[in-house]
Amino acid sequence: MSTVDCTRCNESKASLSEPPMGGELGNTVVERICEECWTEWRETSAKLINHYGLNLGEPAHRQQLRRAMKEFLSLDGES
Ligand SMILES: [Zn+2]
Repeated sequence: MSTVDCTRCNESKASLSEPPMGGELGNTVVERICEECWTEWRETSAKLINHYGLNLGEPAHRQQLRRAMKEFLSLDGES
């Protein structure tokens, strides 16, 4: 099991075993976010999706969720 110095909780914890999504952002999450914080985000994102009635088939909604994710995980400044 590998560990990561997590950007969000500032601790060295277990990393995700594989990128949770495709593309560069998925790799960034694996390199910078621990499994525990990712699990927290998954729970939070489910609430956001419900709260805002987000439809992930819509690009604008996906982008909104992606912005919220970066903020939640302290990944702001990532291109
Ligand atoms: Zn963490």
